[in-house]
Amino acid sequence: MNIMAPRGTNDLLPPLSLHWQYVENIARQVFANYNYQEIRTPIFEYTELFQRGIGEVTDIVEKEMYTFTDKSGRSITLRPENTASVVRSFLENKIYGQPQPNKYFYLGPMFRYERPQAGRFRQFYQLGIEALGSNDPAIDAEVINLGLNLLKELGLTGLEVYINSIGCPDCRAEYIKVLQEYLMSRKGELCSDCQNRLNKNPLRVLDCKDKSCAGLLQTAPKIIDYLCIDCQDHFEKVKEYLTVVKVDFIVEPMLVRGLDYYTHTAFEIKYNKLGAQDTIFAGGRYNGLAEEIGGRSIPGVGFALGLERLMLTIAEQGISLPVEEGIDLFIASIGEDAKKAAFTYVHSLRDAGFRAEIDYLARSVKSQLKTADRFKARFTIVLGEDELKKGTARIKNMETGEQAEICLTELVEKMAEKAEKRG
Ligand code: ATP
Ligand code: MG
Repeated sequence: MNIMAPRGTNDLLPPLSLHWQYVENIARQVFANYNYQEIRTPIFEYTELFQRGIGEVTDIVEKEMYTFTDKSGRSITLRPENTASVVRSFLENKIYGQPQPNKYFYLGPMFRYERPQAGRFRQFYQLGIEALGSNDPAIDAEVINLGLNLLKELGLTGLEVYINSIGCPDCRAEYIKVLQEYLMSRKGELCSDCQNRLNKNPLRVLDCKDKSCAGLLQTAPKIIDYLCIDCQDHFEKVKEYLTVVKVDFIVEPMLVRGLDYYTHTAFEIKYNKLGAQDTIFAGGRYNGLAEEIGGRSIPGVGFALGLERLMLTIAEQGISLPVEEGIDLFIASIGEDAKKAAFTYVHSLRDAGFRAEIDYLARSVKSQLKTADRFKARFTIVLGEDELKKGTARIKNMETGEQAEICLTELVEKMAEKAEKRG
């Protein structure tokens, strides 16, 4: 067979899947501490949701979406991100009628047709949060702080927090005009994509990764100098709240993010040893999104974190996650009667909450014990005719080599004693 997984996708196999589970469990705990609850939206949505929500003139909508027509002729898109869906769901389920704010987290695969490289895939996993229904700058700071605390829980260090304010539609309009004039005057120095963006969406130029554009931006006008009083005030308060919880940050005036729906706060958390794809999580406030997709005005703020990049950072920083690998007991057996006994005992052990395993390939005792090693069994016993007759067997501690004779009817109790000793 030479059918392979599609380019830009990954199989997640054990033991790495255990590491992912560990990270996801820590994330769930942190989300619970901050009172964020899980939301699960469909993996595909009607294409309009992303076209209108993310914005027509964005990389995602222009070139990265997995869009197809279903059998009824509707245009469907695999979600490239989850914020638009969460806001759609909030509107559709009329959650705005409930007390606010409502705080959600999500975790799942996203799809973007990008050029696969380190830290960039076509199916990738994001976990993220969205706080809807409050305009309080304290929530902007909470969102950033939650993400940082999650990374701290996992033992990460050396992260950089970049923040900016991209204003509201009112003050941004003025800035966009000035920016456009500046960029027009240097049009020849822009990459061809940005020359196109110049008329349709000049703000996108700030997000361009092309070197020539980046150089030009050093002397470009900065949005921070054009913020209206309300936007300035919001940004000041976000910074104050971040300071209160001792988050160090760098104000990065060219940070705009690649999605159109952001307003006010925008942020990116980076680990600079990751290479070109160094942003672990990013987000901001998106007060315009709900209206953009046809609903009422609902303020919101959130982030999305790339799990593959997080796992890369964990590896890069040499952090070994305390995953529980291995099984408690392997029961090897010789002969059909002993196999049946082993099969019964292994089930009782599993019922009692132990990780237990037997052989399913009629192997010799020697290779059964090799299997036990491969499964990282903490204890093994071997059942043969003798053991069945006597009703006892020797249990071996695989780490110390210690052996003890135990009564088979007491197997579960003995394992419970050993588990206590371990804990
Ligand atoms: P980038 O600048 O890296 O393209 P982005 O601005 O497109 O990121 P968002 O849409 O805000 O990123 O997504 C949030 C996070 O999701 C990113 O910071 C990153 O960790 C992760 N991410 C985004 N695109 C991909 C991808 N194609 N593969 C893996 N992770 C991704
Ligand atoms: Mg991108």
